[in-house]
Amino acid sequence: MPSILRKRLKRQGYHILGQRGAFKACQWQHKSLLGDFSCYKQRFYGIASHRCLQMTPVVDKCTQCCKFCWRVTPRDIGVSWDQVNVSKEDVMPPEELLDATLAANLRSLGGYNPEINPQVTEQKYNEARRPKHIAISLAGEPTLYPFLSELIEIARKQNMTTFLVTNGTRPRILETITQPTQLYITLSAPDEETYKKLCRPIEQKGWKNLLESQELLQSLSGRKVNRLTMVAGLNMHKPREYATMILKGEPDFIEVKGYMFLGSSRERLESSNAPSHRDIRAFSEKLATLTGYHIQDEQIESRVILLSRAINISKVT
Ligand code: SF4
Ligand code: SF4
Repeated sequence: MPSILRKRLKRQGYHILGQRGAFKACQWQHKSLLGDFSCYKQRFYGIASHRCLQMTPVVDKCTQCCKFCWRVTPRDIGVSWDQVNVSKEDVMPPEELLDATLAANLRSLGGYNPEINPQVTEQKYNEARRPKHIAISLAGEPTLYPFLSELIEIARKQNMTTFLVTNGTRPRILETITQPTQLYITLSAPDEETYKKLCRPIEQKGWKNLLESQELLQSLSGRKVNRLTMVAGLNMHKPREYATMILKGEPDFIEVKGYMFLGSSRERLESSNAPSHRDIRAFSEKLATLTGYHIQDEQIESRVILLSRAINISKVT
């Protein structure tokens, strides 16, 4: 990883683990420790925010350069590096990576010790030190990590649930990996033209691969979600095309989530590209009509709406 990138990531609060793994304390974990707050995934799926780890095995590697990405991309800093190829020697082995993630979590909890921060309860603090869930997302494309199955399996052995978020450009990996507790495929474009403009794939076959992953989704075990990252003025059109893709994948859930004007994306987009919750709701209602999915819940602060295939949903934890 170029040293300029490593420095930028550290400045943005990433703990770099080994060559290219990374942990970043989720703001919701900390908010949850300080009071009665939680992220929308606690509300939707029962994931306790204060017991959740946010990490990536490959922070500097991705098959796309989405304009809305919060991470630093090569174009942002005018330095190029191989964003796609990762060998087994290039990464931390899965046991070490999980240990390093847990250690980074402990370090980041330092200021939340109830002895120095009376807003935090002893119980929540101790629970946060023993996480129950890993969100394998953060930044980078996790299916490029050569030990992804092993990482999921080791987490499971330690009684942790896993959410894996992928951009869908590696269908062969999705087909063969150990399935996480909940698998997300992000849909950020209704057609190839929008995809190329907004997601800026590095490989020619990006769109074709994404469609292949989407078709594969219905055959995979575990809970499956399509996340639609909505960017005002850039991809909030053609709901019928989104609906067609969703119906091919038959996910259990659809999360329609507004882009947030944060991180390095502020250098590529405007604050007006972050849609209002009202816009997210209106788009979700169109999707509900076109797919037959049910609007189940919403969290205004995160500008997200949850739709589900079944009328009644059960929690993950
Ligand atoms: S599920 Fe995501 S948003 Fe919620 S606490 Fe974990 S990392 Fe943060
Ligand atoms: S797929 Fe994800 S990690 Fe890759 S550039 Fe897009 S938002 Fe960033």
